[in-house]
Amino acid sequence: MAFSTKAVHAGIEPDPTTGSIMTPIHLTSTYVQEELGKNKGYEYSRVSNPTRTVLERSIAALENGTEGLAFASGMAAETAIFHLLQAGDHVVVSHNVYGGTYRLGKLVLNSFNLDFEFVDTTDIRTLKAALKPNTRMVFIETPTNPTMEITDLAAVVKLCRARKLISIVDNTFATPYLQNPLDMGIDIVVHSATKYLNGHSDMLGGLIVLKDKALAERLRFIQKSTGGILSPFDAWQCLRGIKTLAVRMDRHTMNAMEIALFLNKQRKVKRVNYPGLISHPQHRLAQKQMRGFGGMISFDLGSLDNARKFLKSVRLCALAESLGGVETLISHPATMTHASVPVEERERIGVTDGLVRISVGIEDLEDLLADLKQALAKI
Ligand SMILES: *Cc1c(COP(=O)(O)O)cnc(C)c1O
Repeated sequence: MAFSTKAVHAGIEPDPTTGSIMTPIHLTSTYVQEELGKNKGYEYSRVSNPTRTVLERSIAALENGTEGLAFASGMAAETAIFHLLQAGDHVVVSHNVYGGTYRLGKLVLNSFNLDFEFVDTTDIRTLKAALKPNTRMVFIETPTNPTMEITDLAAVVKLCRARKLISIVDNTFATPYLQNPLDMGIDIVVHSATKYLNGHSDMLGGLIVLKDKALAERLRFIQKSTGGILSPFDAWQCLRGIKTLAVRMDRHTMNAMEIALFLNKQRKVKRVNYPGLISHPQHRLAQKQMRGFGGMISFDLGSLDNARKFLKSVRLCALAESLGGVETLISHPATMTHASVPVEERERIGVTDGLVRISVGIEDLEDLLADLKQALAKI
């Protein structure tokens, strides 16, 4: 099956008891057992729930994996992955990952003697140099949030395989429609399903996909033990969103390309970060490992004052955290998503005070361009 067909059908079958074409929302904590030791595959909803199972199968199919796991948020999914570690382990992470990933590693898990090191993974030599004898995992985000840097996944796979490290990709920005890290040999893919997979800004969720049976078994054990599972209702919302992922991503990508070209021509815009632009330093690499460039753009307006004026002036674009919904959202990483990253670290990774991030929605392009034009005129 090709992608759009899988998005609509994979893992989904009409309900055998009623014929209901839509997956029922199984709002139940427990399941009646016929006799001791005999059940229909479900015992307790922290362990598994039929609605969640359908979503787990759907995302596994879309990422070309075999095992899917659904969590209450992207951060809950990441937390489960980091529970594969043991005290004393070292993890190398892309330096401008999602702010919450930084916070989890540096301000929470550090107290369990886990050493998270953030390096520029766009340079594979820097990544290699950061590896230590106790390194256990490499966690990559590509494209990164919010500067849209690309890491060479084939090179990461080669390095991790040679050293027997677990490789993980946060595929939230690209979605399985545009990039499939497992196909390139990455061990684990993680998503904030809150973003493009749901696509309608009406739930939070996290998903993990992998192929390795032993790692999947351990992750399922961690999932049921730590309990950060996705609710049946939210699993259903996510399933509903996934069905239109391909059509939405096409529109997000088309709009974003035009907006990036527009911004690139503006005198008041110092720099535009979008992998679809020929001027992006890793445009060729993005072309090689992605099927499209996605809906996320960031650009620098030169100062906090300019950014503030611009964000105050937009009317159609909504000032809000998050991304990946049908509506265009605009945000200021330095004071919003990356507020917990120290100033020097922020400057080093390019999250400057003038940086603005847009999650381009699926509205009509001319309306979006008109809004950006009038807001730029206010600076
Ligand atoms: C939002 C996000 C997360 C965290 O996901 P939540 O669902 O908000 O917990 C992780 N990674 C990336 C790239 C994100 O955008």
